[in-house]
Amino acid sequence: MSGIYIHIPFCKQACHYCDFHFSTSMKKKDDMVLALAKEIVMRKNEFELFDSAQSDNQIETIYFGGGTPSVLTNDEINFLISEIYNNYNVVENPEITLEANPDDLSAERIFELSKSSINRLSIGIQSFYEEDLKMMNRAHNSAEAINCLTEATKYFDNISLDLIYGIPGLTDEMWKKNIETALSFGIPHISSYALTVEPKTALRKLIDTGKIAEPQDEVASNHFMILVETLQKNGFIHYELSNFGKEGYFSKNNSAYWLGKKYIGIGPSAHSYDGEKRGWNVANNSLYLKSIQNDELPIETETLTISDRYNEYIMTGLRTIWGVSLERIEKEFGLEYLTYLKKQSQKFLNDELLSIENNILKPTAKGKFLTDGIASDLFYLNLEE
Ligand code: SF4
Repeated sequence: MSGIYIHIPFCKQACHYCDFHFSTSMKKKDDMVLALAKEIVMRKNEFELFDSAQSDNQIETIYFGGGTPSVLTNDEINFLISEIYNNYNVVENPEITLEANPDDLSAERIFELSKSSINRLSIGIQSFYEEDLKMMNRAHNSAEAINCLTEATKYFDNISLDLIYGIPGLTDEMWKKNIETALSFGIPHISSYALTVEPKTALRKLIDTGKIAEPQDEVASNHFMILVETLQKNGFIHYELSNFGKEGYFSKNNSAYWLGKKYIGIGPSAHSYDGEKRGWNVANNSLYLKSIQNDELPIETETLTISDRYNEYIMTGLRTIWGVSLERIEKEFGLEYLTYLKKQSQKFLNDELLSIENNILKPTAKGKFLTDGIASDLFYLNLEE
C-alpha cells in the first residue's frame, strides 16, 4: 500500500503559531499547479508503481495538505487528481483527503467538492471562540466555522476537524464547550494538538514582548485529559496521540505513515519514504519551481540507519494504539536493541507511565500526555551501523 501527499504551499494569511512551509503571495499559484502536475509525472516509476499488479504498489490514499489546499480551485484539484490516475495504479476506492479552511468552504464550494473524487475533508476549525481565532491570526471567524460544518455534514460523511488546546485564556469550561460544539455536528474524526510555541514564529515574538501569555503545560495537560475522556465517552477511539476516530474512520493516510508504509510527497517541503530512504523536497517555492522547470527533482535523500528506523518505530509505536512490539524489536533490530529498550523503559514502568501487555509496550493513561518525552528517552542515540 502506498500514498501520495501533495503539499499546497500557499495560505491567505500566516497563523501566528505556524512553522509549516507556505507563502501568502498567490502570484506563483498557476505555475505551482503545473509544476506539481509535472512532479507527479516525473516520479511515476519511483516505486515501480505503474503497471504493477502488486497491491503493495498501488496508491490507496491521496492527501492534499499544506499550507491551505482549499485555496486551489476545484478544477485545479481535479486536474492534479487526474494526473495521479493517469500515471499511477490507483485502487478502486482510494481515500482522497482535502485539508480545507472554513473561509474557503462556502455552501456552493462544498457542494461542488462533493461531486469531485474528494471523499474526506479535514477542516482547520481550531476553535469556535472568536478571541482564540483572532489571537492565533486565523483567516476565518467563528460563524464561518459553524456554517461550513453545517454545510459539509450535509454532503460528506467522512469529515475530520482540527482543534487546538492549551491556548492562553482558554479555560477548562471553554475547552469542554469547544469539544461539545464539535461533537454536535456528528463528525467521525477529530485531530487535536496543544498550542506549541515554535522558534521564529510570530507567536514566539508576541510572547517574548509580553503581548500574549506563555501557554502553560499544566493547562494543556488538563485539556488533553478532558479531550481523551470526553471523546472516548462519545465512542471515539484514541488511535494516535493527537487523533481520535470512530470505528472505520481512522485516517488511512496517516495510519499508513505511522505503520511505516511507503509514500511519495509532491511539492515544496514534502517528504517521501520508500521503505529504506527518506526524502524531502526543497522548502522554497521559487527554488522548487525552477528545479522542476529544469526537469530536475528538488529532493535530498538519506538512507535510514538501523538506529533511525528503531527510533521511528519507538516514536510512532508509542503514539499509536498499536504500541511497540517487543517481539518485532528483537526480530527486526536484534537483541542489543531489545535489551537497551527494556533497560531504558524500566523507570517509566516503575512510575506506571508505561506498561507491557502481551509483549506490547504502551503508555498508560497517566503516561499518554508525556509520550513524546518518554519516547526520546528510549531512543538509541550512539549506535552507528
Ligand atoms: S492555515 Fe495552516 S499552514 Fe497556513 S499558516 Fe495557518 S496553520 Fe499554517
